[in-house]
Amino acid sequence: RAKESGRNRFQFFTPEMQHRLDARVTLEQGLMRALQRDEFVLHYQPQVNIRTGKVIGMEALLRWESPELGLVPPMEFIPVAEESNLIIAIGNWVMEKVCATMREWLNTGVPVVPVAINVAASQFSVQDLEKQVRDVLERYRIHPHLIELELTESLSMDNPEGTIELMYRLKDIGVAMSIDDFGTGYSNLSYLKRFPVDKLKIDKSFTSGLTRDPEDRSIVTAVIRLAHSLGLRAIAEGVETAGQLELLAREGCDELQGYFFSKPLPEAKAIQFLRDGVSMGFVNVPDAIP
Ligand code: C2E
Ligand code: MG
Ligand code: MG
Ligand code: MG
Repeated sequence: RAKESGRNRFQFFTPEMQHRLDARVTLEQGLMRALQRDEFVLHYQPQVNIRTGKVIGMEALLRWESPELGLVPPMEFIPVAEESNLIIAIGNWVMEKVCATMREWLNTGVPVVPVAINVAASQFSVQDLEKQVRDVLERYRIHPHLIELELTESLSMDNPEGTIELMYRLKDIGVAMSIDDFGTGYSNLSYLKRFPVDKLKIDKSFTSGLTRDPEDRSIVTAVIRLAHSLGLRAIAEGVETAGQLELLAREGCDELQGYFFSKPLPEAKAIQFLRDGVSMGFVNVPDAIP
């Protein structure tokens, strides 16, 4: 090995690097084929109002059902999709799929609640995001109040004025917006003040420490206070235990999402959940939805 690199001083690539690059290229090709072969699916995780116990929405979460690899979780392919720009096509697919699914539910009498869609930072910097959202809502005749966009704190702040302007244009459409994984990115509070968002999502890394780590508890309490003082709601993600729920309720957190209430559900289960929820009274369908 030493002899080899001595002979070729400009060899930057180690076999491990080559291997990782190959794996990435394979994954990229797999993702492209997944789009063509329609191998992506969405699961839906309920979000609950802590005070009333009622379901107020669901988050759409992407999965890749690969014939070769099985069910691939998003953390294994979203980062690669982001680096390769495939996230734009995948993000379009998600937006399209959510609206098509909601239209089908509305047409077939499935009780529909608002759905939150994850938007990657690189999708957000595409300036026609506003046009795309308008277009897809119009094509499927989906009321904008039925859609929420989850943005991450790592939104490109190279051009903060442009980002804030785009957020206002999305707000004008009537969709709701939230900041996902709040507290894990770099929080520029002077921008937060100017963002036209509706809620902050407390990252599950803070929720999970809530009942045993006083520091996590302080952070959660502070984020709830911050949200409320800015006129926003706070939702905790990753709620798994009754103890966590109790603390969140005591601190005045507005909403929760987590395995304690429900795991993300495949479409057929989500439909059943919504139907049962309406008949048992834990799902409220928003009024005046055409
Ligand atoms: P996220 O948006 O913060 O979504 C919450 C994640 O926490 C989901 O993981 C969900 O399954 C998981 N989760 C929910 N409740 C619990 C709980 O009680 N305990 C634990 N341990 N986990 C819980 P998932 O579905 O694997 O998604 C991971 C991330 O992938 C998402 O984090 C989001 O950043 C990204 N992602 C998912 N779908 C999309 C998408 O359509 N587009 C984009 N750009 N990113 C997506
Ligand atoms: Mg999310
Ligand atoms: Mg999140
Ligand atoms: Mg998170």
